[in-house]
Amino acid sequence: MQNEIKSTLENNQSTCQLPASFSNMDLSEKLLKSVHKLGYTTPTTIQSEAIPAIINQHDVLASAQTGSGKTAAFVVPIIQRLLKDASDSPSPAKHPLRALILAPTRELAQQIYEVFAKLIEYTPLRIATLLGGESMPNQKQLLQKGIDIVIATPGRLYDHVNMNNIQLGKVEILTLDEADRMLDMGFLPEIEKIIAHIPKHRQTLLFSATFSEYITKLTQKYQNAPVIIKTHSANSSNVNVKQSIYLIQEYQRLSTLKRVLHDNQGQCIVFTNSKIDCKKLQQQLDVNYETLAIHGDMTQSQRIESLQAFKENKIRILVATDVAARGLDVAGLPLVVNYHIPYHAEDYIHRIGRTGRAGQTGLAISICSDKEVYNKNAIEKLIGKDIIEIKNIDNIDNINRTDKALPKDNLFGNKNIKYAICGEYINKYTKNKLIPDCALFRIRPKIVHTK
Ligand code: AMP
Repeated sequence: MQNEIKSTLENNQSTCQLPASFSNMDLSEKLLKSVHKLGYTTPTTIQSEAIPAIINQHDVLASAQTGSGKTAAFVVPIIQRLLKDASDSPSPAKHPLRALILAPTRELAQQIYEVFAKLIEYTPLRIATLLGGESMPNQKQLLQKGIDIVIATPGRLYDHVNMNNIQLGKVEILTLDEADRMLDMGFLPEIEKIIAHIPKHRQTLLFSATFSEYITKLTQKYQNAPVIIKTHSANSSNVNVKQSIYLIQEYQRLSTLKRVLHDNQGQCIVFTNSKIDCKKLQQQLDVNYETLAIHGDMTQSQRIESLQAFKENKIRILVATDVAARGLDVAGLPLVVNYHIPYHAEDYIHRIGRTGRAGQTGLAISICSDKEVYNKNAIEKLIGKDIIEIKNIDNIDNINRTDKALPKDNLFGNKNIKYAICGEYINKYTKNKLIPDCALFRIRPKIVHTK
């Protein structure tokens, strides 16, 4: 977040218009207390722009980089707005649904819920999620108690609307997060039917990490003179993420992944393109690594369990489909691997956005077979640059390599050195500094293995 904070401060100095701290935003004390408890002191760029606009009841159309603090940019002002008429009374009638947030995936909805839950701690506001895969009767029961804020996936919310379990007639603020993704996932019919139940005199907020022409259409239809906030060029990838790619033959895919996992020891998410590949790869990796999967065929509680175990660092590798590509925030995740190149170039931006968050640096390594070069080219066109190629060291004869760490008394005199690269390949590798644990030699060294 440091870079974001820095750029926010620089912007503020030059324009003197945006609030430089949450304390200057006229937030209620209860809310400010929770904001500070979360460790937020300086608003990010998107927060500086969106929070005042939303508090002033404008519609907002915002495109913000992944990891930019987008969630709090709408959660904080929504709470501030609701607090004005919030009631301490236990009566359900005093807690009509006033803020509705729609998100494309259960994981993202759950994450938004967690931010809300922390920020309403000192307020009387009540909150619930309505997600597919969970018990309808339990959700209905919860709604009957009176809930001020609901975060939902469109399909499940629409089921409740149809069954008359939820009243949308008092909704004041409607938020569509990752709006472009919801459209991609075919949620438009449900969204339109849901919006038909919400009063026209409402505030509508559209957040999306990427902009598409469909978003513009949605804006024209459902927003009223929105404040448009763009804190980065549309479709750009996070500058904190170093991106590189292996060009391989199909049969080398798994061995290349193992090489990547060997060279980068921290936690990582490995993205696959299908549920079948996800399950298969998880089983293959599970032999050697602590691994769990997350994909759409799992129950909601299984998905939450996998995610939780990963967030708590109980497993090293999360093998995922694109259900985990959007919005997920795993603090300090150093590496994302694309085991397959995503079919949609925009998904690439979302996948790699799981690393390099909150101002930290991250690494995104993709594995691309000759059949996927078309998709790789589409990604490079979208992000406006080439992804640095890493030569697949398994292909190169001139490398003397061992999978086991060389013994301490090897020729290199350094137990961390596992590979020797010599001759013409030196420049290629040293230029990008992509191979750690490596000794570089002008002439081929003799590697001594001792028992
Ligand atoms: P988001 O883009 O909403 O997923 O947020 C990315 C990460 O930034 C999350 O871990 C947030 O907790 C963190 N974050 C959001 N706003 C701030 C802030 N103003 N100061 C420090 N960290 C923040």
